[in-house]
Amino acid sequence: MALARLSLPTNPPSMAWIALYSLIFANLPDVDYLFGFIVGRPNAFHRDWTHSLVFALGIAVLFMWIRFLKSSTVEIRSSLLVFGLISSHLVVDYFALDMSDPVGIPLFWPFSSEHYIAPIILFRDVHKGVTNAAFFRVLFSSHNLITLLSELMIFGPFVAISYWILNRKTQRFNAESK
Ligand SMILES: [Zn+2]
Repeated sequence: MALARLSLPTNPPSMAWIALYSLIFANLPDVDYLFGFIVGRPNAFHRDWTHSLVFALGIAVLFMWIRFLKSSTVEIRSSLLVFGLISSHLVVDYFALDMSDPVGIPLFWPFSSEHYIAPIILFRDVHKGVTNAAFFRVLFSSHNLITLLSELMIFGPFVAISYWILNRKTQRFNAESK
């Protein structure tokens, strides 16, 4: 959200739109859980090719193309934001504890299938059930609540600062245009 807020023009879309865009694109790599749900093992394909820079780039180009079909303009800024939002997920996963095998994310897929993880772990892991039935029951555990709260503590200040900066920019913009 901080990334979206700061990269948007002075007169940005509503906060709800920013939140919705951030929510969708920053979480898009985890769409791979859906593939796992189909075979009854939600984690089966998790942290695979959707967690790569090529995936982020592909979605950004697809976004640019769809927007171009709609508005006939090449929207570089919002497409870059899409790339940034998806990449922000990769950054967080790169710095997150991973107890699965293989550990880390295949950042450079399809050029390399090697999985990468940061030498320093900043974020806790998220517990999930291994079957479809257990997945959500385990998801709402106290372990995951602590993970959620710790991430809010880490990222909350960035969101607050970005809002403060943009509000100042908007105020200045409004004062100058009066
Ligand atoms: Zn992920």
